[in-house]
Amino acid sequence: MNNFLITPIEYLKGVGPVRAEVLKKELGIFSFQDLLEYYPFRYVDRSEYHKIKDLLDLDGFAQLRGRIIQFVDSGTGRNKRLTAKFQDDTGMIDLVWFKGASWMKNTLELNKDIQVFGKPKLFKNSWNIPHPEISAVNGEDEVGYQPVYSSTERLNSMSLNTKGIEKLVRTLLEEDKTTFEDLFPPDFRSKHQLIGRDVAVRGVHLPKTEEQVQAARFRLKFEELFFLQMELLMRKKITMQKSKGFIFGKVGEHFNTFYNDVLPFDLTGAQKRVLKEIRKDMNTGHHMNRLLQGDVGSGKTLVALLSMLLGIDNDFQAALMAPTEILAIQHYESITQFMDGMDVNVALLTGSTKKKDRKILHEGLLSGEIDILIGTHALLEDIVQFKNLGLVVIDEQHRFGVAQRARMWRKNTVPPHVLIMTATPIPRTLAMTFYGDLDVSVIDELPPGRKPITTLHKKDANRLRVFGFMREEIAKGRQVYIVYPLIHESETLDFNNLMDGYEAISRSFPLPDYRVSIVHGKMKPEDKEFEMNRFVKGETQIMVATTVIEVGVNVPNASVMIIESAERFGLSQLHQLRGRVGRGAEQSYCILMTGDKLSDDTKKRIKTMVRTNDGFEISEVDLQLRGPGDLLGTQQSGLLDLKIANLARDGHVVAMARDAAKEILTVDPTLEAQKHAGIRSKLSSMLRARPDWGKIA
Ligand code: ADP
Ligand code: MG
Repeated sequence: MNNFLITPIEYLKGVGPVRAEVLKKELGIFSFQDLLEYYPFRYVDRSEYHKIKDLLDLDGFAQLRGRIIQFVDSGTGRNKRLTAKFQDDTGMIDLVWFKGASWMKNTLELNKDIQVFGKPKLFKNSWNIPHPEISAVNGEDEVGYQPVYSSTERLNSMSLNTKGIEKLVRTLLEEDKTTFEDLFPPDFRSKHQLIGRDVAVRGVHLPKTEEQVQAARFRLKFEELFFLQMELLMRKKITMQKSKGFIFGKVGEHFNTFYNDVLPFDLTGAQKRVLKEIRKDMNTGHHMNRLLQGDVGSGKTLVALLSMLLGIDNDFQAALMAPTEILAIQHYESITQFMDGMDVNVALLTGSTKKKDRKILHEGLLSGEIDILIGTHALLEDIVQFKNLGLVVIDEQHRFGVAQRARMWRKNTVPPHVLIMTATPIPRTLAMTFYGDLDVSVIDELPPGRKPITTLHKKDANRLRVFGFMREEIAKGRQVYIVYPLIHESETLDFNNLMDGYEAISRSFPLPDYRVSIVHGKMKPEDKEFEMNRFVKGETQIMVATTVIEVGVNVPNASVMIIESAERFGLSQLHQLRGRVGRGAEQSYCILMTGDKLSDDTKKRIKTMVRTNDGFEISEVDLQLRGPGDLLGTQQSGLLDLKIANLARDGHVVAMARDAAKEILTVDPTLEAQKHAGIRSKLSSMLRARPDWGKIA
């Protein structure tokens, strides 16, 4: 790398120690290099402005040019706001600030030519632009294409607004010593249609045309994602080489009998494909670490069972761990049923297993008499030891942390294979990037004969009609869930809503014709269990609950899922909740209840739910709406520290970069070729910089 570029930022002409301090604090810019990696977030084409009279037809952002002719202050305290009457030669629109009103008022001048950028919104029957970006218009700016850098109030006060930052970048790019080494060899560049690095860096900051911006951004995104993928692939290779694993070489009696004689249906194509992937993994001599994604009911558990039978055929034991007791019991019951008449010994261990039963169980595990152990967190305890544990299946990975998984690895001399099942789909581009050393399998097909769930959106005003519909379904012998948001189980307001709802339901669906269950997080576990079981057994027809029922529970007779205040749930949560119905042969329904006023994001969430049952499609929309950090949790968001690429929007570039990375490693696995020297040296410094990174599994 060019050493000049690691010079501390205070040495750049026009910066100095005071501004440097603020640049570091506010934008994380410490060096010349950091400044060059502080990319414009958009560009202004001075030749294109919208007219105020055309704004009604515009769906998206507007760029206007005109003058503020009047300020109006209104409201007090938290409702305080500043309105600026903004005019061009076609009309007038309000610019509105709810925050920083007085600061804005001091900064803006009346009757001065300015440029405004923002998203017009309809509010109380008139259009306005909340919190627009404002920039000055003066002679020299009249033409061409301009970068816009985001700034902060503090930087603004030191003249480091977008213009100020642009000036620093320009100064730096004009330095003779500012040169860029291209790590990509020419043949690679032409193959992937990448412009040179020097042209790209200059083009991204100071472009003359839209085409230059596109080419520059593509090159820089590709580069960023390419190195990320290279790093992931290298790390995976390193872990693979280090990790020994059991070999499940034999397909024996247990697997064959079950598959050929017991299993009452054919596997779906997706199940077969995934099973093949798993079998291949368990045959390499390396430790399997595989994530199995698939919607609720897609048949993941069955694939897991078949994998466990393979283990048993090779003289190993298997364990299946679920996040709740109810789920563990359900797994236990369905697997015991499947194993009926077969020579496979299945046992259950949960927090409520009695002490004397535990003792017998521990002995059975040590002697090898028990083949499959199903349970909850209780499985993790050190006292639970096996004769020869070969495979661990973990249901619903989100509930288990990394440390907990590691405890399972230690239950044999060589770590048992690990299969993690999740019904919360993660978009492919993210999965590709995230689960660094985890392989990903996807079941993207439901068993035949399932009726897709019909999803409807109803406003609160239609409640009586919804109740009528519930009565019809219950009259047919079906059961109904009603779910309330209780995001933080301690929030009193939410809790009161839940209780009010429960009372209203109890009044509208009175005894003796109807029986209503309630389950929420404030109840004692045994009471929850009791109520849940009444519903599972069909003794109650209506289950009023909070999201505690989100995970796993299987009541095939339940055909209606009503989600109250659906606007308060995220997409993936809505999808998970909907997955509680549609498990039987009958048509099922999901009804999303909301208030009248909905934000744009909420509308999009609701529309998506109504439109599709496909978990992957939903996860893509979720990714667009929430961004990757939120989707995966902050714990992993460090990985997302990308400077220019965006995993939500640049999925296709991720795929291209990954292919390119794989290709290079196929041709030149150790990057020995002279032309790959640049790539190799950058990569080894990346690997050194984050030694623990990527061990997500
Ligand atoms: P998941 O674990 O993905 O939620 P399960 O494995 O529990 O799904 O399967 C859901 C239901 O579908 C179970 O009753 C299971 O027996 C059944 N099932 C699984 N695979 C098939 C298949 N290929 N054909 C028909 N039914 C299937
Ligand atoms: Mg399941």
